[in-house]
Amino acid sequence: MSIIGDGLEILSLIDKAKNADVYRQLGDYIDKIREQQIENDRLHEQVRDLREQLRFRGTVERVHGHVFVQGDDDEICPRCAEVDMRPIHFVSQFTKDNGLHAGCPQCKLQTHFRYPCKRENAMKGE
Ligand SMILES: [Zn+2]
Repeated sequence: MSIIGDGLEILSLIDKAKNADVYRQLGDYIDKIREQQIENDRLHEQVRDLREQLRFRGTVERVHGHVFVQGDDDEICPRCAEVDMRPIHFVSQFTKDNGLHAGCPQCKLQTHFRYPCKRENAMKGE
């Protein structure tokens, strides 16, 4: 049984009328444990997210000014990789003046290239 379940079981065993003080204190104690569990869950989630960000950071590669994830030949957005730690692939987008530019669909960063860079072209310094 859970720690809160144990507390509730003890609470049910107490004669409420005779032990009002103990009853109230145990109730408060159970509330505190419940709050601690919520905080614990939140921290576990945060640790998981930070681990994932750290793992991702280790897979980011820069090739002549272009950014890639290891094992992936399509360019990703350097801003999203650096700031949000997310691998967002560049796409070609038409701008207001009808020019074609590679950019990020997430943060709207735009390059002066028409198409996203392929790794083999980045290796050649293109
Ligand atoms: Zn971006």
